[in-house]
Amino acid sequence: MNRQDLEKYSRQILFPGIGEKGQEKLLAASAVLVGCGALGTVAANLLVRAGVGRLRIIDRDFVEPSNLQRQTLFEEADAREAFPKAVAAERRLGAINSSVRVEGVVADVTAENARELLSEFPLVLDGTDNFETRLLLNDAAISLGVPWIYAAAVGSYGVTMTIRPQETACFACLLEGQEKSAALGAEATCDTAGVLNAAVSVVASLEAAEAIKLLAGNADALHGRLISCDVWSGKFQSIRVARNPNCRACARREFSYLEGESQPHITMCGRDSVQIHERSRRLDLGALSRRLAVASADEVRNNEFLLRFRVPPYEMTVFVDGRAIIKGTKDPAVARSLYARYIGS
Ligand SMILES: [Zn+2]
Repeated sequence: MNRQDLEKYSRQILFPGIGEKGQEKLLAASAVLVGCGALGTVAANLLVRAGVGRLRIIDRDFVEPSNLQRQTLFEEADAREAFPKAVAAERRLGAINSSVRVEGVVADVTAENARELLSEFPLVLDGTDNFETRLLLNDAAISLGVPWIYAAAVGSYGVTMTIRPQETACFACLLEGQEKSAALGAEATCDTAGVLNAAVSVVASLEAAEAIKLLAGNADALHGRLISCDVWSGKFQSIRVARNPNCRACARREFSYLEGESQPHITMCGRDSVQIHERSRRLDLGALSRRLAVASADEVRNNEFLLRFRVPPYEMTVFVDGRAIIKGTKDPAVARSLYARYIGS
């Protein structure tokens, strides 16, 4: 390790659980974070400051004003510009610690691309907002034989568990087992329940600490439990989750989410929005913008990553990869028909 690194990470190196050896491992380590919202921004910030060598951040969404209350890497300008979260996070993290290789990827992790996006990394961090994607991450991680860290927060409550293939229970063991209710405590979406930034920070910090233990070569220190906490009532709980000997994923290796049909529509968390995923093509946003100007769309704006326009009462945001987020409806059929009319079928 060079002198600058010894100085930069000195307080962490002084901690006996890390030391110089652990720091060297961290500097050479890499991880992939799926979802860069509330949990993701907090965890990414901690990992980049801790000196993880390389961090890939995958996110499908863009920054909005309502994110700023808890998504700690973003600023008002990011929301004004509707910057993709992966891009805004990469830029901000680069300014925080320029020696970390941060790679923002604007994409939705699906059954089709999960293996490709995750396969180079020895650790996957959960920053997602839905159980569907977590079950997909679980399948992908178990099939690749890499650990992943589950984390979720809603209201004043958060929950996390570190999953190591063949060593701990997996997410499918948890959801199908007796501890289901504890895991599902976080299932209510932030759309209906809201979320406190403090709850997010606690859980994302536990997640980052587990990641640092693993990447610094200190797996013995992992807490090995399902931890839940409520920052409002002050109640913390930790329970041991047993492996299900007949688990679909980690025992029978049936990766139904990884092999299953992908869903064309996903209702987003926290907003009155639907996502349409068209993987079949890449869009020319310039051409689309000219076409929309001729049509009746209002306020057509685009940056190099996305194009946004209004068709009252809806607002549509279209990404280069053909995806669109349609705000103003929760009905996939309405979203689908708007997509067909304005973007093409
Ligand atoms: Zn399992």
